[in-house]
Amino acid sequence: TGSSRPQRLLKAVQRNAAKGDPQSVISAIDYFCRHSEWAMNVGDEKGSILDSVVSEVSPTTALELGTYCGYSTVRIARLLPPGASLITLEFNPDYAAVARQVIAHSGLQDKIHLVEGPSGDSIPKLKERFGITSLDFVFLDHWKDRYVPDTKLLEECGLLRKGSVLLADNVICPGAPEYLDYVRNNPRYESRYFQSHLEYTNVEDGLEKSVFLG
Ligand code: SAM
Ligand code: MG
Repeated sequence: TGSSRPQRLLKAVQRNAAKGDPQSVISAIDYFCRHSEWAMNVGDEKGSILDSVVSEVSPTTALELGTYCGYSTVRIARLLPPGASLITLEFNPDYAAVARQVIAHSGLQDKIHLVEGPSGDSIPKLKERFGITSLDFVFLDHWKDRYVPDTKLLEECGLLRKGSVLLADNVICPGAPEYLDYVRNNPRYESRYFQSHLEYTNVEDGLEKSVFLG
């Protein structure tokens, strides 16, 4: 048909989700991915773990690495307290264009800043661009070989404070062994694994939650 998977996912949202209803956007995407086409969203099962961590942290300033179609973006933003915001980074312009429309459909656009470009370029500009002192919560879900360099970059840029919470997806599948080694064997982090399954499958995967101790 010439359309891409993200474009078909967007169509499913526009057809099946109520405008201004984030939960129905999430459900429409999960339904599309279970019944039509698998896609690399965090998904409903790991999504409920993501929800509990976001709710527990209740971040004022949150960062997401890897927007894709905006599924987890909407998932996180719908749980933010009043006045809080989520910055999400995406370097693929086609994915970013779809995500903007998914976010607009959810009605959460006022809480979300989508920044286009590679994370390594965007992270050092966040403080100045958004007037942030530090991040309360970071969701790592971009390419897995960037987890360690971008975590170190967040540290170097002074974006982490004592108590900042990092949550990393896909630490088992496709896997991020270097990241697990970094946060688990590091006195500056307290780290814990949440076992689950790869989105829309029965394959083991999980999330690693790491609290920065300063
Ligand atoms: N978080 C999304 C969700 O659960 O709905 C899924 C994100 S998908 C697994 C990873 C995304 O990260 C892709 O869209 C990819 O283009 C983007 N990405 C990968 N490396 C990146 C980088 N260094 N900077 C910005 N975006 C990146
Ligand atoms: Mg993921």
